[in-house]
Amino acid sequence: MGVIQIDWHCECGDGPASHYSRPDGEVCFGWCQQTDHDCNGMGYRPINHTRRPPAFAAMLEALWNAGGGERWPKHFSVDISTDYQTIIGLPEGQPFIWIVREMGTHLLLLDAESLGFAEQAARYFERQSENIRYYVWNGWNTLTKVSADHVRETIKAAIQTQENEEMAYMTERQWAGDR
Ligand SMILES: [Zn+2]
Ligand SMILES: [Zn+2]
Repeated sequence: MGVIQIDWHCECGDGPASHYSRPDGEVCFGWCQQTDHDCNGMGYRPINHTRRPPAFAAMLEALWNAGGGERWPKHFSVDISTDYQTIIGLPEGQPFIWIVREMGTHLLLLDAESLGFAEQAARYFERQSENIRYYVWNGWNTLTKVSADHVRETIKAAIQTQENEEMAYMTERQWAGDR
């Protein structure tokens, strides 16, 4: 099993690259500046790793296999820190699409609120000429490398399921109203 270097976010929400050291103390030039979570003076404090969800373990495995020992993604590994924080908050059984590019990663959720964005994002990535790797997490135990076509079909199917559920709900309410 290989190792992967990730730029983990600081507790302030900014990446390590935003943090600097000065003779008079630690400073952060990130988004936390002048907010209620400004880490000025405290310095870089990487986020807690309270647990390692199976999805995230599978993603690191995939990154290692994709890079073949080379650093991958080549830039913006801080995206993986963002993905980790999203996954920590996901309920078990929640599937998602994961996109790995040379310049970072993107997680596309497939719940009702995220589907519209997922569809737009998938279309955007399809138009890019670069080499993009697509993965699907089944919600429980398997991360599978898939094609762009498969991603499009997966999102389409999720939207269809969503529409059917809404229709069923509306029909049910109509029935209840008729009685
Ligand atoms: Zn900070
Ligand atoms: Zn900061």
